[in-house]
Amino acid sequence: MTTPALALRGLTKAFGGLVAVDGLDMAVRPGEVHGLIGPNGSGKSTTLNLISGLLRPTRGQVLLEGRDVTGQGAAARVRLGIARTFQNIRLFRHLTVLDNVLAATYPRTRAGLLAVLARTPAMRSEEEAARRRSLELLDLVGLGRRAADLPGDLPYAQQRLVEIARALATGPRVLLLDEPAAGMNPAEKQELLALIRRLNREFGLTVVLVEHDMSLVMQACDRITVLNFGSRVAEGTPQEVRRHPEVVRAYLGTRF
Ligand code: ADP
Ligand code: MG
Repeated sequence: MTTPALALRGLTKAFGGLVAVDGLDMAVRPGEVHGLIGPNGSGKSTTLNLISGLLRPTRGQVLLEGRDVTGQGAAARVRLGIARTFQNIRLFRHLTVLDNVLAATYPRTRAGLLAVLARTPAMRSEEEAARRRSLELLDLVGLGRRAADLPGDLPYAQQRLVEIARALATGPRVLLLDEPAAGMNPAEKQELLALIRRLNREFGLTVVLVEHDMSLVMQACDRITVLNFGSRVAEGTPQEVRRHPEVVRAYLGTRF
């Protein structure tokens, strides 16, 4: 069997007495769109925080392409190819849409006034390339024309797309999306679905999709892991998962 793009082994996170993620095992195959679903509070966002290194697990491991990255911090994991968006949008409100994306590409070591004064022609052309790349990414998510606007001038749904462009700017191999369709109307959801498919098929990205909209999850995902109380209760293809008794129980009354 091929090495998973991402593997979680016995992953556990306790906040005091509350065990938000409880011995979670999960394997995401290379090149798949993998859904992570479950009721509110079942540990989905905490799991993404553990994968992206924003939180350290109480126990267990995170493996990226077979390599144990549990001890690596968030910045190191970005460099290793893990990028994410946030359930609560985290854009810089005072920077333009373009600069928000650019900030993710711009080498951090060269930021600041000293670096600006000491810029060489090579650095300037690198910056130009990063700017062009950021604009291309905004075009990709359909927001090329909003590059000069502030995030707050965009509808909520489009701010979510800026977050995706910013995540892509770090050049990931694994993209974690936390409720990307929140606040989107049906037409916007269809565009999001097309974008996720394109990132997956054309750009070869492995995607972990946390999403409430079951129709979107069923259409977008190759496989799905279902959480309840921080543990995996089911895993499989959309067809397998929707018939799983645990899933029917957890989602009683929800049609998908
Ligand atoms: P989901 O994304 O599936 O809705 P979360 O991962 O956000 O669930 O939360 C799982 C559980 O952990 C919830 O009970 C939530 O209140 C709790 N939780 C999440 N983050 C923290 C935190 N930083 N401190 C304390 N409890 C937290
Ligand atoms: Mg969440």
